Amino acid sequence: MAKTIQAIRGMNDCLPVETPLWQWVEDKVRNTMSSYGYNEIRMPIVEKTPLFARAIGEVTDVVEKEMFTFEDRDGESLSLRPEGTAGCVRAGIEHGLLYNQEQRLWYMGSMFRYERPQKGRYRQFHQVGVEVFGIPNAEIDAELILLTARLWKELGIFEHVTLQLNSIGSLEARKNYRQALVDFLQNHLDILDDDCKRRLTTNPLRILDSKNQVVQEVLNNAPKLHDYLDDESREHFRHLCTLLDAVGIRYEINQKLVRGLDYYNKTVFEWVTQSLGAQGTVCGGGRYDGLVEQLGGHATSGVGFAMGLERLVLLVQEVNKTIDLQKTVDVYLIHSGQNTTTPAFELAERIRSTLPRLRVQLNCSGGSFKKQFKRADKSGAKLALVIGEAEVQQQQVIIKDLLNDTEQRSIELTKITDYLRNYFNGEKNGLQC
Ligand code: ATP
Ligand code: MG
Repeated sequence: MAKTIQAIRGMNDCLPVETPLWQWVEDKVRNTMSSYGYNEIRMPIVEKTPLFARAIGEVTDVVEKEMFTFEDRDGESLSLRPEGTAGCVRAGIEHGLLYNQEQRLWYMGSMFRYERPQKGRYRQFHQVGVEVFGIPNAEIDAELILLTARLWKELGIFEHVTLQLNSIGSLEARKNYRQALVDFLQNHLDILDDDCKRRLTTNPLRILDSKNQVVQEVLNNAPKLHDYLDDESREHFRHLCTLLDAVGIRYEINQKLVRGLDYYNKTVFEWVTQSLGAQGTVCGGGRYDGLVEQLGGHATSGVGFAMGLERLVLLVQEVNKTIDLQKTVDVYLIHSGQNTTTPAFELAERIRSTLPRLRVQLNCSGGSFKKQFKRADKSGAKLALVIGEAEVQQQQVIIKDLLNDTEQRSIELTKITDYLRNYFNGEKNGLQC
């Protein structure tokens, strides 16, 4: 036998046993987005490398070490997208979506980062992202947080996530704070690990979320970001907190929360869970009022977030025991004997036309009635319909309830869709449409 080829490390297949849960989560996402009046946008998976370098920042972890970058046949440097905001802003500028107007956009799709694969961290993963343009005030920041909270409730994970909130101020305020932090850390060089030492010159604010306990203890005495905030950012943050208090969203202010990407200003937030081990951040976002201009557009405020679908699916599996995922088949159609194939096809198609939401699977691989009934059981269908030679002649079909051991019965072929409509109507709303 030829040698088999395996998938690329950190890039997972989503198998048929897993897709129902993914689809369930994705449906909740779509419904939540639409209930807030957000529009879907779809961007390419590959973009020119300088887009990410300019948007995310040259010295961020993502750009420095996590991008899948390659040259195309013309020698142009391209990258698989590591996140969606840069591409979304690029598309918005390119198609004139951002100038003098408001946009509430969302997307869902694959992202790629060259990281060490582990639970909740992969090289190809999926994000749902939201980006809102043209609304500078804190009400929209609050709306985004409310939207995520509603989605957590829909997914049954709300009790298992907490909201961390911070303001990182204007670029200017952050520059001042950055200097104060560097001055402070210069006096503690002995306790900094190599990673922190490197960041001291490249991206000192990231030292604040170092996992190193010794570093964290010293940081407790470091200058506080909020003492450096500009008045406008301070007021924006106060307004956001007041709104969240008013609508009953609980949050924890975490002055060490700075987020990994350079483009943020003012609000940053993360939803974190204790239930997934080290990869506990399920959603992160914030405001990025300078990004559109930085990428060549007219100055436009922006705010958004991204959530990791793998982590959400893991969390739902972990904590939500109430989901009853539907089997993929409702009715299994069995047929055997001379001249039964065409009537079986015709019947299956007629049912699908009349009751489009009913899932009908037709036996296509022959076999005895016994064998076909086994397949019907395995499909998860509730009902089997059976067509044999006698049924074709008498224009009838046999119905067998696969869940309850009741007697099978015959009904006229013309009455079968009415029968199915009645049988399934309780559980499938709008079956007849
Ligand atoms: P982390 O600190 O876990 O590396 P991050 O700050 O790099 O996260 P973001 O860039 O903010 O992550 O992406 C938003 C969300 O996407 C994260 O909160 C997480 O849920 C998910 N995510 C990020 N990287 C990965 C990955 N490699 N595999 C799976 N999910 C990921
Ligand atoms: Mg990361």
